[in-house]
Amino acid sequence: MNTPDKQALQTGVALRTAENELGVDARGKLETLPVQPTPFACCRFCGADLRFTFVDLGMSPLCESYLNAAQLNQGEIFYPLYVYVCSKCFLVQLQEYVSAKSIFTEYAYFSSYSDSWLAHAKAYTAEMIARLGLNQDSNVVEIASNDGYLLQYFVAKGIPVLGIEPAGNVAQAAIEKGIPTIVAFFNRETAQELSAQGKRADLLLGNNVLAQVPDLNSFVAGMKTLLANRGVITLEFPSLLCLMEENQFDTIYHEHFSYFSLITAETILSAHGLRIFDVEELSTHGGSLRIYACHTADDSKPTGQRVGELRAREISYGMTRLECYSSFTGQVRETKRALLEFLIEAKRKGKTIVGYGAPGKGNTLLNYCGIRTDFLDYTVDRNPYKQGKFLPGTHIPIESPERICQTKPDFLLILPWNLKDEIMEQNAFIRDWGGQFVVPIPRVRIFP
Ligand SMILES: [Zn+2]
Repeated sequence: MNTPDKQALQTGVALRTAENELGVDARGKLETLPVQPTPFACCRFCGADLRFTFVDLGMSPLCESYLNAAQLNQGEIFYPLYVYVCSKCFLVQLQEYVSAKSIFTEYAYFSSYSDSWLAHAKAYTAEMIARLGLNQDSNVVEIASNDGYLLQYFVAKGIPVLGIEPAGNVAQAAIEKGIPTIVAFFNRETAQELSAQGKRADLLLGNNVLAQVPDLNSFVAGMKTLLANRGVITLEFPSLLCLMEENQFDTIYHEHFSYFSLITAETILSAHGLRIFDVEELSTHGGSLRIYACHTADDSKPTGQRVGELRAREISYGMTRLECYSSFTGQVRETKRALLEFLIEAKRKGKTIVGYGAPGKGNTLLNYCGIRTDFLDYTVDRNPYKQGKFLPGTHIPIESPERICQTKPDFLLILPWNLKDEIMEQNAFIRDWGGQFVVPIPRVRIFP
């Protein structure tokens, strides 16, 4: 039996014990959730013991560790994909099972390869220049600037920039494009060094980096240090409200240590003397937030209406109550059962099923559900780097999209569901032989 959680008492959260730690599944039945009687970990923001499960997705390899044929006959490392919610500050988080240094110092992802991401970056740049009045006397600093995919648009307008990027190979690509970049992890120390050299940021931005930071407090303290007195921070990260509402549990992977609501982001920034004064909801990655922050004392930036509105929606969804988080498990388990039910029935009828795409989220889904070549003959991906390789854990072969026409499968399971419209359009030809599309998230749906 657990002892009552003092922090939970302080925040007025209902107490739970090993006996009453229950979640309700999608059919209204109660399920027992695993509890950690001896917490293994502390919250990376507030330090409280982590006792409460958000969701347990079992053991999984790193989602980007695609295998070649020779590696199929070797051991493979699996790590717990076990997600906690902090009962004190409600930060949803994974432990850092694999160090950020080993994941991000030699990174294979070059942002400039994605056309839609470049368009997003270009639009952002124009918006910020207009909104903040940036010019040749301003300083723009991007944290995790990748290959300069975004800063290049500020450089083109003559606005001074600095990129901070931990992956040496990716930073090198930026430097070759003429974008000043230092190779470093951003933290308190990096910010102090830059500040000592007289660097301050009028615009300090970080897109999809906050989730990947193991030491959150050092990171946010660094932002506070580097921000000019009247400067603006913008951060983009996937929205936890979207993740929960849309059942996007497959967007959880080991490279993403934390999952933020507006409320937790406000709590964390405010502890470091920063205030969120505006927020936008974006459609990227299935639903993201772009927050705008400034020094708490900066009275030139009144807090806009959108902040209060989104905060109210998160509160009414239940994001300041622990029960809301523990019900997520039931929803995830039911999704697994429904997907397996569909696959089993299809296989019993002698149907053939193949996958479309080999994204990180597909690997979380397939490993959690235990879907291997017993259900999916293969998957396809347009990225030539992935073709000929195998998915981590499930060992499903990755082929080129032409294979679909050759084997004429009955069902195409779309793994990057956020691109389903585009994928169904590109592969409409499967209907010629009666093929159908299957989308697993937020729930299993068949599109004839
Ligand atoms: Zn906490």
